[in-house]
Amino acid sequence: MAWTGPMWAGKTTALARSIADRGGRWRIGVVPWAARPQGRDLPDRLRGLLPESSVQWAPLPDDWDPERDPEAWAEGVDGIALDEAQFAPPSWLDAIRRWRAWGLRVHLAGLSLDALGRPFGTMPSLLAAADEIIVLHARCARCGRPARDTALRPGVTLPEDGVAVGDGDRYVPLCPRCWAHSAGGDSLP
Ligand SMILES: [Zn+2]
Repeated sequence: MAWTGPMWAGKTTALARSIADRGGRWRIGVVPWAARPQGRDLPDRLRGLLPESSVQWAPLPDDWDPERDPEAWAEGVDGIALDEAQFAPPSWLDAIRRWRAWGLRVHLAGLSLDALGRPFGTMPSLLAAADEIIVLHARCARCGRPARDTALRPGVTLPEDGVAVGDGDRYVPLCPRCWAHSAGGDSLP
């Protein structure tokens, strides 16, 4: 099951609520540091939203490959949760299929589009394999309508690799109409 949508749509909160509702023991899958842009300061919000007793936390080496050893995360848990799934290495797709084949629940949340409207990392592939997808909306920073996209604030540029972790200082959620206007260079609040 997958949650997607723009920044500030409540994806991580929805993921945590679903895990809490289902109960059981869950392992939080952590995208290897090497796959995260400027990743060491990426906050682990999901872990903070879940009671400690329901979560297994097993840091694995940066070079751990779930395709090679998917059992490492499946043992002793009912489900595996993954936040910021757009940064997951492509090989995780095969691991997720195996976890599901073994009867584990796999819940993930992430951005499907980047701030330029392009498919974001592994997330489109993960969504293609999901049994259920929930698209959440934020509130458009410009007009208040439901926002499906994330946009760069005026004057903010992306680094060469096209990815920069940021918050309200760098990004805003926009509805489709305002996103189209912003792409034309209009100013934003
Ligand atoms: Zn709008």
